Amino acid sequence: MLELMKLVNEAKSIAIAGHVRPDGDCVGSCLGLYNYLTENTKEKQIDVYLESVPAAFSFLKNTETALSAAKTDMVYDLFIALDCGSRDRLGFTEELFLSAKHTVSIDHHISNTMFAEYNHVEGEASSTCEVLCGFLVDSCISKETAECLYLGIVHDTGVFKHSNTSRRTMDTAGGLLEKGVSASQVIDDSFYRKTYMQNQILGRCLLESILLLEGKIIFSCVSQKMMQLYGAVPADLDGIIDQLRVTAGVEVAILIREEGVQNYKVSMRSNGKVDVSKICCLFGGGGHKMAAGCTMNGSIHDVINNLSGQIEHQLMAYSE
Ligand code: 5GP
Ligand code: MN
Repeated sequence: MLELMKLVNEAKSIAIAGHVRPDGDCVGSCLGLYNYLTENTKEKQIDVYLESVPAAFSFLKNTETALSAAKTDMVYDLFIALDCGSRDRLGFTEELFLSAKHTVSIDHHISNTMFAEYNHVEGEASSTCEVLCGFLVDSCISKETAECLYLGIVHDTGVFKHSNTSRRTMDTAGGLLEKGVSASQVIDDSFYRKTYMQNQILGRCLLESILLLEGKIIFSCVSQKMMQLYGAVPADLDGIIDQLRVTAGVEVAILIREEGVQNYKVSMRSNGKVDVSKICCLFGGGGHKMAAGCTMNGSIHDVINNLSGQIEHQLMAYSE
């Protein structure tokens, strides 16, 4: 077991960082640990780095404190990477990671490359927030910290419905509720509430979705033009893939977002038979068995053909 608190105690300066395009678990774990450490330690310089914080998470304590540019002159005693499966996914904090005296990675991605000096990866855990709770002293967790951690668990479990939700997940979340977190407020405000624009894009994605492989695959694609038309950022697409996935008969849902010329960000979700992490790993990405992503180059037809070929291959092996 990683002695996180021993490393923290010995460090005078600590950087906490997540992955590019931070999601709920990433923001929740980074701010949760930041709040916990700033509330319970003295005389340390602690910085939390997040590329951006989606507006729906802005009620969390210290969102405004998170840094979106690296303090390039800093050499941290300890760098803690959270929810980040590989070094390159750190994005703008990679240089700080490289220069830090000690590095720790706490994560729940089975595809984690063990890129830090100390790696603690629980592939079975619902979320990094769940893993993190195992390191924290319960009596030192404030309501504000609990809110961050609860939000992370809510998001990575799709509000406690994905297969990664275990007894421990519920126990952990229950413990956080006892700190005074309002479950319905966190869930509604950060997960279900959508802006008019977000709902319009959702509608278009559903309308323009295409079924492949006798309805076992559903995919939809968001072009750069569409993103510009709606003034959308990637976080505005959160939840769309989940709606695609619950289409009756579907085994795998794919949402593709055009990032540049012949350059696509791919999100995949499985209903159980297909390991989408394996597929995304083949194309340089990663994630979990039921939720994974990667970046692919080529025409949209190539991207779809490559992905559907891999899905078909796994489905054939499954039925044999
Ligand atoms: P999403 O589709 O929500 O962006 O990501 C689903 C899961 O796959 C998340 O756990 C995320 O960390 C992981 N993931 C998404 N894209 C990539 C990627 O390009 N590389 C890696 N290693 N993991 C990814
Ligand atoms: Mn996560």
